[in-house]
Amino acid sequence: MTDKLVRATASNGDIRIIAAITTELVNEGVKLHNCAPTAAAVLGRMLTAGSLMGATLKSEKDALTLQMSGGGEARGVVVTSYADASVKGYIGNPSVDLPANSKGKLDVGGAIGKNGNLVIIRDMGLREPYVGQVPIYTGEIGDDLAYYFTVSEQTPSAVGLGVLVDTDLSVKAAGGFIIQMMPGANELAADLVTYRLQEIPSVTEMITKGMTIEEILNYIFEGMDLKIHDSMIPAYKCDCSREKVERAFISIGQKDLEELYNEGKEEELKCHFCNKAYKFTHEQIGEIIKSVTADK
Ligand SMILES: [Zn+2]
Repeated sequence: MTDKLVRATASNGDIRIIAAITTELVNEGVKLHNCAPTAAAVLGRMLTAGSLMGATLKSEKDALTLQMSGGGEARGVVVTSYADASVKGYIGNPSVDLPANSKGKLDVGGAIGKNGNLVIIRDMGLREPYVGQVPIYTGEIGDDLAYYFTVSEQTPSAVGLGVLVDTDLSVKAAGGFIIQMMPGANELAADLVTYRLQEIPSVTEMITKGMTIEEILNYIFEGMDLKIHDSMIPAYKCDCSREKVERAFISIGQKDLEELYNEGKEEELKCHFCNKAYKFTHEQIGEIIKSVTADK
């Protein structure tokens, strides 16, 4: 097990850091959804971002959802994460595979497109979830999140996300970090971090070299009073159940349910997040209709 997420501070607590290696987690998501290389990078970066942000949630009942849909061939990507840094997600088009971009990298921004929004939904068990959104800035995901934190939450941030896809389509390395300046942070420290982030190799390069997440942070924040506070194991986890799928099935409405029943067919519903199939036989559809009408 190499995946690990850590929460840390630097520069006397002026800088807040969440960073993780997510290679196994991303591999699992990419395999589940049978992703082509560009799709793997899109989904992998989103899963990593979701896991990092999930780790900032206060209660285990809270959920955080990130959505990006920019009109590109990826046809949208969604991830949902929780306070234990677990995450699940899906991409509209897992087959999307574009030529490398001008930097020779998997073209995540091109696959997502720029014609749309980054939407962040924080569900804290209140009547209404908190929804924030910003227009997509580059579609590279890390830049977009940094833009969101800076503009919507007035927290200057740097976000790095990386997924390295191997020739056999497995994920060789994945990980990322969110670095945030607390209000009133020392400007020199902010400048120093900005400078170091420009100088360091990419996250995936450091992970491929075998560096642990602690070593990566020690390297970026050398001499800056880095303090690692705690760690978690991020993981791909789907919490779907027959009950939840049944609830979604019922939500199509009584009229449509009756139509399906009268056609005498059975229905198979797949969980978007893990592709698990749930079958409803003709008789079961009849029972669902009965229970819905009985509720009224
Ligand atoms: Zn599922």
